[in-house]
Amino acid sequence: MSENKDPHVPQGTQGVKFVYDFTEGNKELKDLLGGKGANLAEMTNLGLPVPPGFTITTEACKVYLDSGDEPAALRDEVSAHLSALEAAMGKKLGQADDPLLVSVRSGAKFSMPGMMDTVLNIGLSDKSVQGLAKQSGDDRFAWDSYRRLIQMFGKTVLGVDGELFEDALDKAKQAKKVTVDTDLDAAELKKLVTKFKKIVKSEAGRDFPQDAREQMDLAIHAVFDSWNTDRAKLYRRQERIPGDLGTAVNVCSMVFGNLGPDSGTGVAFTRDPASGQQGVYGDYLQNAQGEDVVAGIRNTVPLADLEQIDKKSYDQLMQIMETLETHYKDLCDIEFTIERGQLWMLQTRVGKRTAGAAFRIATQLVDQGLIDEAEALQRVNGAQLAQLMFPRFDDEYANGGKGAEQLGRGIAASPGAAVGKAVFDSYTAIKWSRSGEKVILIRRETNPDDLDGMIAAEGILTSRGGKTSHAAVVARGMGKTCVCGAEDLEVDTKRRRLTVNGHVVEEGDVVSIDGSTGKVYLGEVPVVPSPVVEYFEGRMHAGADDADELVKAVHRIMAYADRVRRLRVRANADNAEDALRARRFGAQGIGLCRTEHMFLGERREMVEHLILADTDEERENALKELLPLQKRDFIELFEAMDGLPVTVRLLDPPLHEFLPDITELSVRVALAESRKDHNENDLRLLQAVHRLHEQNPMLGLRGVRLGLVIPGLFTMQVRAIAEAAAERKNAKGDPRAEIMIPLVGTVQELEIVREEAEQVIADVERTTGVALKLALGTMIELPRAALTAGQIAEAAEFFSFGTNDLTQTVWGFSRDDVEASFFTAYLEKGIFGVSPFETIDKDGVGKLVRDAAAAGRATRPDLKLGVCGEHGGDPESVHFFHEVGLDYVSCSPFRIPVARLEAGRAASTSAGSDHR
Ligand code: ADP
Ligand code: MG
Ligand code: MG
Repeated sequence: MSENKDPHVPQGTQGVKFVYDFTEGNKELKDLLGGKGANLAEMTNLGLPVPPGFTITTEACKVYLDSGDEPAALRDEVSAHLSALEAAMGKKLGQADDPLLVSVRSGAKFSMPGMMDTVLNIGLSDKSVQGLAKQSGDDRFAWDSYRRLIQMFGKTVLGVDGELFEDALDKAKQAKKVTVDTDLDAAELKKLVTKFKKIVKSEAGRDFPQDAREQMDLAIHAVFDSWNTDRAKLYRRQERIPGDLGTAVNVCSMVFGNLGPDSGTGVAFTRDPASGQQGVYGDYLQNAQGEDVVAGIRNTVPLADLEQIDKKSYDQLMQIMETLETHYKDLCDIEFTIERGQLWMLQTRVGKRTAGAAFRIATQLVDQGLIDEAEALQRVNGAQLAQLMFPRFDDEYANGGKGAEQLGRGIAASPGAAVGKAVFDSYTAIKWSRSGEKVILIRRETNPDDLDGMIAAEGILTSRGGKTSHAAVVARGMGKTCVCGAEDLEVDTKRRRLTVNGHVVEEGDVVSIDGSTGKVYLGEVPVVPSPVVEYFEGRMHAGADDADELVKAVHRIMAYADRVRRLRVRANADNAEDALRARRFGAQGIGLCRTEHMFLGERREMVEHLILADTDEERENALKELLPLQKRDFIELFEAMDGLPVTVRLLDPPLHEFLPDITELSVRVALAESRKDHNENDLRLLQAVHRLHEQNPMLGLRGVRLGLVIPGLFTMQVRAIAEAAAERKNAKGDPRAEIMIPLVGTVQELEIVREEAEQVIADVERTTGVALKLALGTMIELPRAALTAGQIAEAAEFFSFGTNDLTQTVWGFSRDDVEASFFTAYLEKGIFGVSPFETIDKDGVGKLVRDAAAAGRATRPDLKLGVCGEHGGDPESVHFFHEVGLDYVSCSPFRIPVARLEAGRAASTSAGSDHR
């Protein structure tokens, strides 16, 4: 066994210690005691009323899982802790006349759905139930506790189908013509116990164990085993939780909320997890135990009502909540129980919250002096900021029911707010959207055949599948709103309609879906722009008196992030409009201007001329036509980004992308032939299309290869850039153009292009009389380029890692082909935790980036390094790029705030802040 070197761990006397009393642990010991155990210990040490108990460590679980048996020392250690507990409580576990009862609770480091449920009331038996009845003076309570034990134990420890118990309970209620469990009296509950024991016997093939210690040991083993259920494994893979952490087990003496109206159980938050507001938030249920309060078996009351019900406990709870917030310096959520007027704390942890609340709480805590700004920055993240930037449904309509009616709710798979007419197949989605209709594509689940329909739709709604279903993955990839797995919805694609709670939605009816909450509405819910975007756009000022509290919080945290970050943030933008927006959003330049977008529209014809040119003269004429247009584009761009660097990438995609579609053109030519109406141009085009057709265009004639085989193409582009820069200088501007060569695999390619470019630049300098400083560099987007980066740096003043193509070429798959076909399966099997196109694959692609950056800098110490793939706007990837020492990331204008925030978080984490 490994020796425990953690200074927080009290060392046992003989070797490894597997059991910790609640008084021995603390909140730093989550690895060893799990989250629940560590926090129970923390509360105990704070002097809060926690029912006594002890925690069996994750180490014991690991031994059990590795060897199939519990560690030899465990049984005695548990016995010793149990004896101490019995002595403290003055009764023995399961003692016939006055039993000590305990709960056995799972609790891993990270809270994990899919693990074993807690078993309450362990220690009850046919005998001790009588003792409990006598001691409490409440027969009904004793039998209610016993039936709960058999039910929970039967289901979670012995693996009996829980429905069988539920059915028996329902029948008992029906027989008595009552609707709630509290209306069953002791005699009925006693009968139910007999029934439950029969169910156990016939389903599990054994009697319900009457020995209290056996109950406890079986429950402990069941918790250990639950670490490896399929559901738990799947959850861990998806959340990237290591599979070898193991779970702790908490044994906690019972307190009873089901002892009558002066007892009860509840949950509470120290702040509103939706808004961040401080106040009294939570639910309370009288005469109830454990999960009753969240299970919805009876109606709960708001926590504030507890003040009327039990003022003393209420005041004490408020006091404790304040203690916890000050202590944890964060929003806490809490489980508590009141037993005949005595308050007990059963759980606390730093609570989950909405994106908006995360920002507000972080700044509120700074104002309260509980945390500093560096810590506030760690309390929020880019994913939350991105969520706050999506347009959203007007709350008044969405919540108040002004017009729109909520139909159901699914999984919030891809954020956004989408409104459109319901369509049930891709064909209709495409047809209707072509005629200008907005549509929501509704399917039971989607598959690769639905891709075109998904592209055409405003949003996607499915009734099956989770966060990694095809619909969810593809929608997130496209940035399209998606709600999936809305199981209440019955989707009938044949009859083109869906039914839900008695409503029928026909094809063409308007629906609204909220990809941030998963809610589905009938009718049109109005959409409002996000105040956070209004702020970034400069239309709302954080300093204004009436500024939204959220905007103020975002502003403060962004300002701090900007102050501490090392990475610069640039934008991928191809036109002045995008560039200006990017600047408003905080871009410090353009990292990628794709020039191919400048060859579309009416200019496509000029590219055709270029491709069809038979003679040098024809080609030069075609290029001459393009030159002034390109130049004008660049002038606008340099003006928009005046004073900031603009990296212009020379033409990258294969030329056939500028030619008409092969089938369309073939048909046109064939029809013309049949009419004996030859079109010379079409015939030549068709020939060119055939000539340029490629099996794998992604790996074909593109990037620098184009520049090398089409004389004059790249030099025309360089001339346009140089002339535009000269003109801006003459206009007293400050253009900072950088010329970037795509898809280089070897330094020789770059050297040839470089030489030609330098001649053109010198020529422009001569004719204009303006001195130009134009940096020349390359993309690193092929494995060979990365592997020979040291050589390439000799000819490059900067590298920009094109991580999209680099990911494709390193993995050997093309994004368009694979995302819709097998990524879902890979995600489900856990081969990817997340798509490598979303977050950089650190071990593979990332290693090339790291090594190439180092090799490049070894050759040229002042080599400027950036990244312009989509990863530049992905939070986790930004941290990686910070760590490997790049100078900047470049991303789409909308992602810039996210990149700024994460660059700040990366810089301040590495400065040693308490990173969560
Ligand atoms: P979960 O991890 O699902 O929250 P818990 O271990 O917290 O599971 O227990 C489930 C429910 O039982 C909770 O409502 C909890 O407060 C309650 N509970 C657990 N232990 C005890 C106990 N010793 N006495 C009374 N209620 C308990
Ligand atoms: Mg709990
Ligand atoms: Mg590329």
